[in-house]
Amino acid sequence: MKKSNHLHFPTTYEKVLERVNAIDPIKYAKTRNYINGQITYLSPYVSRGVISTKQVMDKIIEKQYPYPAIEKIIQELAWREYFQRVWQFKGSQIWEDLKQDQQKVVHHTMLEAIQQAQTGIESIDLAIHGLYEIGYMHNHSRMYIASIACNIGKAYWLTPSKWMYYHLLDGDIASNNCSWQWVSGVFSSKQYFCNQENINKYTFSKQQNTFLDKPYEQLINMDIPNALRDTTKLDLKTNLPTSNTPNIDTEIPTLIYNSYNLDPYWRKDENVNRVLLLEPSHFNQYPVSDKVIQFIIDLSKNIEGIQIFVGEIEEIKKLYKTDNLWDDQKIISKEHPAFTYYLGIKDQRDWMFPEVTGYYPSFFSFWKKAERSFRKLLK
Ligand SMILES: Cc1cc2nc3c(=O)[nH]c(=O)nc-3n(C[C@H](O)[C@H](O)[C@H](O)COP(=O)(O)OP(=O)(O)OC[C@H]3O[C@@H](n4cnc5c(N)ncnc54)[C@H](O)[C@@H]3O)c2cc1C
Repeated sequence: MKKSNHLHFPTTYEKVLERVNAIDPIKYAKTRNYINGQITYLSPYVSRGVISTKQVMDKIIEKQYPYPAIEKIIQELAWREYFQRVWQFKGSQIWEDLKQDQQKVVHHTMLEAIQQAQTGIESIDLAIHGLYEIGYMHNHSRMYIASIACNIGKAYWLTPSKWMYYHLLDGDIASNNCSWQWVSGVFSSKQYFCNQENINKYTFSKQQNTFLDKPYEQLINMDIPNALRDTTKLDLKTNLPTSNTPNIDTEIPTLIYNSYNLDPYWRKDENVNRVLLLEPSHFNQYPVSDKVIQFIIDLSKNIEGIQIFVGEIEEIKKLYKTDNLWDDQKIISKEHPAFTYYLGIKDQRDWMFPEVTGYYPSFFSFWKKAERSFRKLLK
C-alpha cells in the first residue's frame, strides 16, 4: 500500500509564523473538505499553545479581506474556541456523554481493523498510516474514522478517541472528545454517516464494493460488517524522558509551561525561571505517543532559558518553601482546563471572543454570539 505523503510539522517559531502568514482564506473555504485542500496545518501549534486562535484571526483581519471571504476560516477557528469553552464549563464531564447516551453501542473496546490500518477502505487505511507516521490526519478522515468506529463498528466513542488522541500532534482533549461525541450522536442531534461515494469524492479514490459502498438508508441500519468485528483492548503508555530537579532561583517567579502552553512570547521580557513541566500524573491519565512528546520538547526550544522537568507541580511548589510558608504567588501558569489544580497565578489565554464565555448547547448558538463580536472587530 502507498504510504503517507510529504506533510511535516516544523517546530521553529519562524516556520510556524510563515504558516500563519501563508493562509489563503478564499482557497481555504473552497477546498478545505478535500484531502489535498488548502488547509492551514496549524492545529498542532494552536493545540500546543505556541500560537493562539486570536493571533491567527488577527493576521487574517490585518489583510483586509471582505467578510464573506474570511467567514469560513474564522468559523473553523471558532470551533476550537467553542470546544475549549465547553471543557472549561463542563470540566471532567467532558469524558462523559454530553447531551445524550450513544445509541446501539455493542462494545467499549478498540476496533482491530482501525488500529492495524486494515479496514479495507484504501483512503482510510492510508490516513491511519499517516497518523502513525506524521501524527496528523485531515478533518474529514477523522470524521470518517470516528463514524466507522462508532456508528458502523458500534464501539463506544471513548476508547477509539483515546487511540486517536494518543497519536495526534495536535491532540486537544476538548476538540477530540467533543468531535468524537459529535460524530457518534452524543453531542449532536444525530449520528454522522459517510459512505464510499463520499469518501471517494473527497479523497479522490475510486473504490467500490466495500462495506461502505451502500446508500445511507442501508448504512444506518446495517449490522457490524465482518471487517470490523474483531476488537482489542488498548494499552497506551507515555514514555517520558528523565530529568533533574530544575535549577530555580526562588527569589524570582517560575513560569510553568506544559503540553498545552508553549508560547515563546509569554511574559517574554520578565526576569523569571521557565520550566516545561511534564507531569507523569497528567500523561498517565492522557497518554500520548513518543512522537508527540518529542514534538512538545522540540517546540519548547523556542522558549529562551527553558528547563525541562519531568515531575509534578507540587515539587516546584516545595522549592518555594521558606520558614514553613509557601510562596504560591511565585508560580505562574496560563489558565487551562487540563491544569485547574495548578496553584499560584493564572494568566488568561488569548481568546478570539473573550466576551463569549460559558456553555452553549451547540456550536451555532455559540457562533451566533461570536459572529456579532467578530463583525465589530472588522469595523
Ligand atoms: C474525530 C475528530 C477528532 C478531532 N480531534 C482533534 C484534536 O485532538 N485536536 C485538534 O486540534 N483538532 C481535532 N479535531 C478537529 C480538526 O480535525 C482539526 O483541528 C483539523 O483537522 C486540524 O487541521 P488544520 O489545522 O489544517 O485545520 P484547518 O482546517 O486549517 O483549520 C484551522 C484551525 O481551525 C481549528 N479547527 C478547524 N476545524 C476544527 C474542528 N472541527 N474542531 C476544532 N477546531 C477546528 C483548528 O484550530 C485549526 O488549526 C478533530 C476532529 C474530529 C472529527
